[in-house]
Amino acid sequence: MTGHALTDRLGRPIRDLRISVTDRCNFRCSYCMPKEVFGDDYVFLPKNELLSFEELHRLTGLFASLGVKKIRLTGGEPLMRRGLPELIKKILSVEGIEDVGLTTNGVMLGQYAQPLYDAGLRRLNISLDALNPELFGKLNGRGIKPDHILKQIDLAQQIGFEIKINMVIQKDVNESEILPMAAYFRDRNITLRFIEFMDVGNDNGWSFDKVITKKEIIDRLQAAYDLEPVDQDYFGEVAKRYRYKGTDAQVGFITSVSESFCSSCTRARLSSDGKFYTCLFASSGFDVRELIRNGASDAELLDAISGVWNSRSDRYSDERTEQTAKNRNKIGMSYIGG
Ligand code: SAM
Ligand code: SF4
Ligand code: SF4
Repeated sequence: MTGHALTDRLGRPIRDLRISVTDRCNFRCSYCMPKEVFGDDYVFLPKNELLSFEELHRLTGLFASLGVKKIRLTGGEPLMRRGLPELIKKILSVEGIEDVGLTTNGVMLGQYAQPLYDAGLRRLNISLDALNPELFGKLNGRGIKPDHILKQIDLAQQIGFEIKINMVIQKDVNESEILPMAAYFRDRNITLRFIEFMDVGNDNGWSFDKVITKKEIIDRLQAAYDLEPVDQDYFGEVAKRYRYKGTDAQVGFITSVSESFCSSCTRARLSSDGKFYTCLFASSGFDVRELIRNGASDAELLDAISGVWNSRSDRYSDERTEQTAKNRNKIGMSYIGG
């Protein structure tokens, strides 16, 4: 399928598609799926409401024809979706897709790392918020110990994956873990990315004063290490990267709050039940699944998707205030896919 360059109202092309393959998760991180909201009686999507692998394969082809080159599989916890390696193979076979990555909490990698690698996946982002066992057990809401995740990271490294670690920093919660995490992953030459705590959804108790900014984190790192900035790899790269001087090891920052990057945002999102979102902080999405299941042709789907992207003008993080964070009705991160 050949395509034309699709841009939105602010001239931003569509390049990345983040696909949430499930809204379920085996963790209950308070900043994402707080236990009080996602309790035992919480009703997740039934299987028939999830996009099937065939539907996802078809949609990936259509998005690729509009300019998408990178796919990220996420969730919820994507490894809870049965048969994920099969989906990876299908997506890698799509013409125009140059890169597929997976974001996971890592807890099930022992079972899935090898099958994922065999399916062709090479890039993993693994989330880990602390090395302190008590703190990490509390943060993930399930008492899982960091040693378990560290073992899965070693395994994935041995298999040959390129790994990045995601760490969300919350003031007075895990800021004491910044230096121990930096030292641990610097020694192993694995890039650690510090993510500023964001006001995703409406349930995570966010406020500006709970955010530790990139600048504050860098100040702490620089007390221990010499850091030098690294040039961006490509337009729209989200992380700002630095190298520990005299080494190949790098550290990254996702600065959604302190240095927003909406002007180069090329990311589209597909929820597990087939809603197409043009911003992580959107209030509503466009129902692609309904079109598909009503028998829409490829041309009709392309028209609809292009129309949504063409009229996109989202720049939530550029405009964020304490008021928008509280008052806007935002879709939860575990549903829309981080
Ligand atoms: N379950 C997988 C995981 O945790 O890696 C994938 C989905 S999770 C929603 C994707 C990423 O979003 C994780 O790295 C997580 O730490 C991050 N995240 C979730 N809620 C966040 C928040 N409020 N602020 C910043 N990052 C957040
Ligand atoms: Fe689950 Fe990931 Fe959200 Fe934590 S951040 S609750 S692991 S989806
Ligand atoms: Fe993109 Fe929305 Fe994030 Fe801005 S706030 S970078 S438009 S997802």
